[in-house]
Amino acid sequence: MITEKGCYYCDRNENFRELLFELCDLRVSKVFYCKDQTLPGRCTIMFQDHYEEIYQIPKKERDLYLDDVCLLAETIKDLFHPDKINYGIYGDECRHVHFTICPKYKGKIGWGQPFIMFPENRVFLSEEENKERMDRMREALLSRLNHG
Ligand SMILES: [Zn+2]
Repeated sequence: MITEKGCYYCDRNENFRELLFELCDLRVSKVFYCKDQTLPGRCTIMFQDHYEEIYQIPKKERDLYLDDVCLLAETIKDLFHPDKINYGIYGDECRHVHFTICPKYKGKIGWGQPFIMFPENRVFLSEEENKERMDRMREALLSRLNHG
């Protein structure tokens, strides 16, 4: 496992855990549930090792990573029925390769535009609602992973 000290995604310190909850591991990635659920189902998915550019990841693993991204996106589509899914890789400051997987809904914030990283009036669910939603997502993800 390749890690880098001081990396937001490798360290996953308190600041990280304030915004993201670990959901589960897929083939070569870790999925995180965004505490900001303004757009229901929003997640991030990090590659397991510290690379800063997607082209640096060896092709075999990069292909598996895209399989994981697809598995996550399809699961979110099934559970939350967004009108479109946005896939964001930016990482100017948070350099570890990760996608933000942002479900978009017609009529809701950011439709027709790039998704907004930190919208105003963010929607945060209760602890219980988060747990229920995360359990549902984890179960669906792992079931899809294990059944091809
Ligand atoms: Zn890292």
